[in-house]
Amino acid sequence: MKMTWTWTGEEATIDDLVECAGPGWRKHVEQMVADLEALGWSGKVTQVKEKFGGLRFYFEYEGIPENLQRVAMAVEIFHEGQSTMTCQLCGKHGTTRRKENSGWLATLCRTCAVERGYPLEKWEEPDMDSAVKAVKEDPAVP
Ligand SMILES: [Zn+2]
Repeated sequence: MKMTWTWTGEEATIDDLVECAGPGWRKHVEQMVADLEALGWSGKVTQVKEKFGGLRFYFEYEGIPENLQRVAMAVEIFHEGQSTMTCQLCGKHGTTRRKENSGWLATLCRTCAVERGYPLEKWEEPDMDSAVKAVKEDPAVP
C-alpha cells in the first residue's frame, strides 16, 4: 500500500516511520501498518515518534469504516503498550528507564542501557559476576 504524510502528501515508507520512532520498534510499526491496512485504511500518516519512552502513532483513520475505528484504536494502544517492553534500539525485551539527573526516558534492553549510561533496575546486573555477588550479599537470600 502507498502511505503518505498527511501534511505534505509525500510518500511515507516503513523505513521513514521506523526512522522517526526507533529501529527496535520496526516490528510494531510494520504490524500496525498491516493491521490498519486490513481495516481499509487510506494510508495517511501524521506522525510516528517516541514519547515518554514509548511508541506513538498518529494515523489518520480515513478510509476505515466508523464501526471499525475503535478496533484500529485498540490495535494502536496494543502496539504502543508493547513498545514499552521492547528495546527501541535493538528490538530485544526492554524496560522503560529514566536517565539519572535528567527527565529523559527510553525503553532499552539491559545491554543497550549499559552502553548508553542508563541505570539498571535493582533486579538487573551488568554481568554475571555482579549478579552472583548481588545474590550472595542479599540478606533476603538464605
Ligand atoms: Zn537493546
